[in-house]
Amino acid sequence: MCFEVSLNGQVLFRAGGDQLESMFASISHKAPHDLPYFQVHGLNRPADNLFEEVYWAKQTALSGGDTLTVRVVENATPDSFVVGNYFGTRTSAGIGEDHYCTFCGQSARAVGMLVHKKANICHECLRKYQPDEM
Ligand SMILES: [Zn+2]
Repeated sequence: MCFEVSLNGQVLFRAGGDQLESMFASISHKAPHDLPYFQVHGLNRPADNLFEEVYWAKQTALSGGDTLTVRVVENATPDSFVVGNYFGTRTSAGIGEDHYCTFCGQSARAVGMLVHKKANICHECLRKYQPDEM
């Protein structure tokens, strides 16, 4: 199952994938001076302990009069996505295991991390989520 996204009648991409946990298509408008934008993203799970935050469109600007269409299509080949953050443990060929914080997605190489079998947390998030009384 795919989301086929068209802008003003022209198909931009088909979002989808066999390993997707979830997928979202949305239009947003925040501040009065910002252009509205649309976003199509999802959570991919290529391995047991690895989630990828993936995008087909990330804060793509819209103008007045634009018509954005999202059509649900079956049996279609999805277009490839861009990976944002990783959450979990990724094994890279020739490098070994890379660990990513389950909360913020930062790499253990960047921030240092406590590692557990099912979930990882970096030192920054551990401080952020720790009660003051501890
Ligand atoms: Zn973190």
